[in-house]
Amino acid sequence: MDGPLEHLEQWDDFVSSRYDPAKKTEAFRDYENSTPGVREFYRLNHTLQTRDFVLQKKREYLGLNRMQMSVWEALDYLNTLVDDSDPDTDLSQIEHNLQTAEAIRRDGHPRWFVLTGLIHDLGKILCLKGEPQWAVVGDTFPTGCAYSDKVVFSNYFRDNPDYANPSYQTRLGIYDEHCGLDKVDLSWGHDEYMYHVAKPYLPEAGLYMIRYHSFYAAHREGAYEYLMSDHDKEMFQWVRAFNPYDLYSKSADRPKLSELKGYYAELVNEYFPSKLNF
Ligand code: FE
Ligand code: FE
Repeated sequence: MDGPLEHLEQWDDFVSSRYDPAKKTEAFRDYENSTPGVREFYRLNHTLQTRDFVLQKKREYLGLNRMQMSVWEALDYLNTLVDDSDPDTDLSQIEHNLQTAEAIRRDGHPRWFVLTGLIHDLGKILCLKGEPQWAVVGDTFPTGCAYSDKVVFSNYFRDNPDYANPSYQTRLGIYDEHCGLDKVDLSWGHDEYMYHVAKPYLPEAGLYMIRYHSFYAAHREGAYEYLMSDHDKEMFQWVRAFNPYDLYSKSADRPKLSELKGYYAELVNEYFPSKLNF
């Protein structure tokens, strides 16, 4: 896979180390010490995700007329992302999704919540459509208004062309106070894409989890509250409930799909048709 990340999960790993509960919260975290690939990844992401880019990708992908796949076909397809030559990537994409779902199931959450865990990262198939890493993963952020310094590596926004557009650099930019996140164009990636794929089928709480799980500036740092409606704020409790399962469910014991397939096949059939539009 094309860099700068060695593999897509390197971004996920960086986020979980940032929010590692065993780490002491420091007033200032020195991300400059993170690996050059991660830094370069954020530099590209923050420089190239302009509002125009986001709108163009939405036009390109959200018609959902590229392919039809079952959840299982999509998981298999996503799994082709795994780079066999990389010894760190011992967990496949299927395993991350399954471990997230299994951790949610162990805690006795509703079935739709477990299912949300299983599919939350399926949007990463964007990588297989030729999208660069910086347009698939990464912390998401609103475009069309001022960047918050709560977004990691926010200094890199200085090279984004939108930074030089004064109408995009006021606190509200093109938005109205508390307009609701649905009206806000976040940077493009696997979250927004998968939200649209799953939209007809999952309860709203699950859709919020999928759509905003990489919006760390909001759900972890409390930024951009002024764009959120009261309803968003209420629903963000679900985004926050989901996040630890995404970040901390990685473990050495690999879930055996063969043993779990029965349970998950039934669960998938309960909510989804046999094929989804991607
Ligand atoms: Fe994700
Ligand atoms: Fe994930």
